[in-house]
Amino acid sequence: MMSSATGETQVVDKGLGKKPPSKPNEKKTKFDVIIIGAGPAGYTAGIYCSRARRDTLILSGILPGGQLVNTTDVENYPGFENGIMGPDLMINIRKQTERMGTTIIDDEVVNVDFKHRPFKVLTASEEYEGDAIIICTGANPRKLGLEGETTYGGKGVSYCATCDGPFFRNQELVVAGGGDSAIEEATFLTKFASTIHLVHRREQLRASKIMQERAFADKKIKFHWNKTVEEIIGNGKVQKVVLRDTKTNEKTTLEVGGIFVAIGHDPNTKLFANQIELDKQGYIVLKENTKTSVKGVFAAGDVHDRRYRQAITAAGFGCMAAIEVDKFLSEN
Ligand code: NAP
Repeated sequence: MMSSATGETQVVDKGLGKKPPSKPNEKKTKFDVIIIGAGPAGYTAGIYCSRARRDTLILSGILPGGQLVNTTDVENYPGFENGIMGPDLMINIRKQTERMGTTIIDDEVVNVDFKHRPFKVLTASEEYEGDAIIICTGANPRKLGLEGETTYGGKGVSYCATCDGPFFRNQELVVAGGGDSAIEEATFLTKFASTIHLVHRREQLRASKIMQERAFADKKIKFHWNKTVEEIIGNGKVQKVVLRDTKTNEKTTLEVGGIFVAIGHDPNTKLFANQIELDKQGYIVLKENTKTSVKGVFAAGDVHDRRYRQAITAAGFGCMAAIEVDKFLSEN
């Protein structure tokens, strides 16, 4: 074996033109760090762990890339003057992570055992061991369950006002929901939209009083009480939203350019329920600096963060978790 000018290892054939016997294809299952999940938090954690020379595996799940894979334009991720499509951003980050030396396997984790180190992470076909774990499994926005949500996802149906609000300047919009998220999204969207139709299934908001007061005082926000969204209609992009009155069943149609669904998020933490501390809504409880209730298990991104929920903050948390993991492995 010798090294080439490019640093790559080459096999030198010293025999009689015969290739050396190939080694059995052993699958590597032990790593310094195992990262579960491959959104901005997971990939960024991978980049930082690998650059710290920690042998790092990302188990990405079967649909890697996280929520950005279902987004179109991303205008608020620094470094892209003209924005970038969500899936392209995630492909770029993945390639960058692989280039740093992180092993990425597109397999789904079905069980974990965090009782002892090394921690065990199981997929349907393999058992992996890691001296430290970073959980980056994210959260999913709850959906209304309408066909139009799929048809017009990224074409007028959105789950993030901060991400997509600026695309709807001077348009009428629907916001569905009655909690803090819905009110926050509606209030934020008044910066861009001409009118916000806030559609709530009851006649009382769940949101905190102070946020309610702000929304009631805002002339751009119109409230539609006891209404559910029945249908999203469009032609290439959203054009109409049909509402149903929960008391009379009467249907009304709003002509709008988009709908923001803000009926809560579900963190992807079922796997960890008996292993680490979760709060009432299932979010991972952090003790300090991305550390969970189990020493050596860290979390980053929307799986613990219900407040910011941005790609850039998730990436930031991924970086923080990786730095903490490196420190933890050095000390232990
Ligand atoms: P949430 O508090 O669970 O509220 C969800 C809202 O959506 C409720 O009004 C609910 O109606 C409605 N809803 C749920 N499923 C629905 C469906 N299938 N169809 C129609 N409507 C539906 O969720 P969230 O607003 O995302 O807030 C989550 C947590 O984060 C809360 O603790 C909240 O206080 C916090 N948060 C805080 C801030 C802030 O302080 N700035 C901002 C955002 C979120 P019902 O009321 O009838 O159940």
